[in-house]
Amino acid sequence: MASTAGASTPTSKSKTTSANGKAASASATSRAATAAKSTRAKSGGKAAMTDEGATASVTAKSTSRASAQSGAAPDMQESVKELFVAMLKDIYYAEKQILKALPRMAKAARSDELKQAFEQHREETAGQIGRLEQVFAAMGMKPKAEQCEAIEGILEEGKEVMEDFKGKPALDVGLCGAGRAVEHYEIARYSAMKSLAQHLGMKDAAKLIDANLAEEMKTDKLLDQSAQALLLAKDAARA
Ligand code: FE
Ligand code: FE
Ligand code: FE
Repeated sequence: MASTAGASTPTSKSKTTSANGKAASASATSRAATAAKSTRAKSGGKAAMTDEGATASVTAKSTSRASAQSGAAPDMQESVKELFVAMLKDIYYAEKQILKALPRMAKAARSDELKQAFEQHREETAGQIGRLEQVFAAMGMKPKAEQCEAIEGILEEGKEVMEDFKGKPALDVGLCGAGRAVEHYEIARYSAMKSLAQHLGMKDAAKLIDANLAEEMKTDKLLDQSAQALLLAKDAARA
């Protein structure tokens, strides 16, 4: 990806040239360095180097670092699979935290519709956890949760809204926003995981992830509509 970008923008910044030139000489045995040298030679031996050469030297550096650690360049498919599993454990943890948080949010909500929306999504969340367990099973793994600090922070913010706006007119609108922050985190993770599953040819996993993604998107929309309706109702009450 990086080398493509580098290759497509050969005219970009010459400022980085000398630093990258140094980096290239440091890995003199690599192909990248050879390419960089020949680029330099072509440009009359000056320090001028194209971004293509610079990018290649960076790539060569990171590859040689990875090789030094594992003894061989890691296989891309294996690495993507490892990434998928890491994300699966992360979202599994996140969903379990969300399952605990939703009753809290339902309890805090003043409007019956919003209470119902949170309660309904709690049910869906329980089902989503089940789907994630099916993904683990499909991969021959036991479900394992890995702490996700991002969701903890987002849920913590939700608690702040409940505390800071308790008894205030904007409480429910605030809860919609807090809920949407959770949904957006989930949407970002599930869409990324869906592409990884598709890339890995894991069709069943991709379908299960997509089912969760669809519910998060639906909930996000529902919470947006609830907030709009609450704001309109406040306007009407004021008029
Ligand atoms: Fe969820
Ligand atoms: Fe996370
Ligand atoms: Fe959700």
